[in-house]
Amino acid sequence: MTATPPTLCARCAQQGKTCCQGREIYITPEDRQRIRAFAGKLEFVEWSPTMDPAYLDQDDDPIWQLHVLDQDGRRRILKRKPNGDCLFLGPQGCVLTMEVRPLLCRLHPLTYTADRIDAEPDEGCPRHLLSAAESVFDAIHMTMELARQWHRQLYEEIITDDHDDRIDLRPSL
Ligand code: SF4
Ligand code: SF4
Repeated sequence: MTATPPTLCARCAQQGKTCCQGREIYITPEDRQRIRAFAGKLEFVEWSPTMDPAYLDQDDDPIWQLHVLDQDGRRRILKRKPNGDCLFLGPQGCVLTMEVRPLLCRLHPLTYTADRIDAEPDEGCPRHLLSAAESVFDAIHMTMELARQWHRQLYEEIITDDHDDRIDLRPSL
């Protein structure tokens, strides 16, 4: 019997840096609720302006522009450890189950706007670790059916993001 090869993400992790390190991950209010229910009281959210100016250029995705960023250009992201790793990155990868993982993470490395999903994945995945017959999507076990489902859910949640929870984070007087 032929052994199933490790996913591309596992191969990537063996090589060192992965997309769970040094990234700012926007989470929807529902992502926040799901993670909070799973992780208990751990405080894992911050509101932060983007470090990447390209992120502010969302002309092709007005829904993102309108609902993700607040009036100060900040958005709800996962906190990171001092070394830049995501708070939920463990020695074996993400400690969150797929049902709890932020929708942005589930959809990575797809690129998309509200009305389309691009055919080609983000260029950050290490293609040199693919075998000859593999595509990036095969190697991370992503199907277009799942992608469409998560993409739909992501924008349904984005569109109702009214930033209400920002109030939690204001310092008390
Ligand atoms: S999604 Fe791509 S960059 Fe991220 S861990 Fe998997 S293979 Fe690596
Ligand atoms: S939540 Fe999980 S998948 Fe997303 S960046 Fe953090 S460790 Fe990676």
